[in-house]
Amino acid sequence: MSAQLLEGKAIAASIKEALKKKIASFKEKPKLVSIQVGENTSSAVYIRAQKKTAEALGIEYGLKTLGADTKQDTLVTEIKSLNKDNSVSGIIVQLPLPKGIDHRLIIRSISPAKDAEGMHPENLGHVLLGDASVAPCTAQAAFELIESTRENLYGKEAVIVGHSEIVGKPLALLLLNSFVTTTVCHIATGERGVLPEHVKRAEILVVAVGKAGLIKGEWIKPGAIVIDVGINRVGERIVGDVEFEPAKDRASFITPVPGGVGPLTVTMLMRNVVTAFKLS
Ligand code: NAP
Repeated sequence: MSAQLLEGKAIAASIKEALKKKIASFKEKPKLVSIQVGENTSSAVYIRAQKKTAEALGIEYGLKTLGADTKQDTLVTEIKSLNKDNSVSGIIVQLPLPKGIDHRLIIRSISPAKDAEGMHPENLGHVLLGDASVAPCTAQAAFELIESTRENLYGKEAVIVGHSEIVGKPLALLLLNSFVTTTVCHIATGERGVLPEHVKRAEILVVAVGKAGLIKGEWIKPGAIVIDVGINRVGERIVGDVEFEPAKDRASFITPVPGGVGPLTVTMLMRNVVTAFKLS
């Protein structure tokens, strides 16, 4: 039996529709300001997608471009001035930042109330406590896709491969808050040779590593929900971290790559901005 595809675009469309209605009911419009330091091709793609989505929803989008030689203190000063600006609801600093700028310090200098990416330690603390208003966008996108299956998550076995700050760790907390029994695998799991063992018992599998074909199709537990966050360029193609075709024959739900998690991530960013606006 072939798995049902979890298409991020369709789920994003219904969330965007609801956000658009909500924004239309506000007297003032939320505003997202994006800061880009230096030139970066991948940031340029994200910025275009953010601007297009924001404007389609009725969120004002401002872009501040700073030179590649910008000093850390200058960037912090810029952020502090946006923190004080009442017309700004959300701030996002595009990563990667040039060498010499500490990205953790930069994220900490954004007001937690304007933290569009949900990466400020205070907001991550609320994710841990289970009472977060905003949360990291990619982790939320993966969680939305899992919820979209309408499966009962209570007590299910989830395995997350990858423990990054933006995906694996916050997603583990979101799943724990929903009473999912959650295991997080990382490089040491792979090096110890026990990754297949963990993956084989996953009723919910989320992979966020960035290595094409890391997860073999034959490891997928029959009937599993498979969320592939990975984005890898192989020749002309973009593929995930899971061997898609054989995995699709075993899973009950699976995300395509591209077209699964990606389209939802920017929608989660806009949802965070709307939440920040409502709370301000
Ligand atoms: P990251 O920070 O590099 O994290 C990768 C994780 O994978 C790390 O925890 C790493 O462990 C772990 N890992 C590496 N090799 C492993 C192995 N052989 N077995 C088990 N775990 C292993 O990457 P990221 O930012 O989370 O992104 C992960 C992937 O998702 C990338 O392909 C990225 O492009 C994609 N992504 C997609 C979206 C989207 O919207 N669709 C958004 C963000 C990221 P160690 O840290 O211990 O080495």
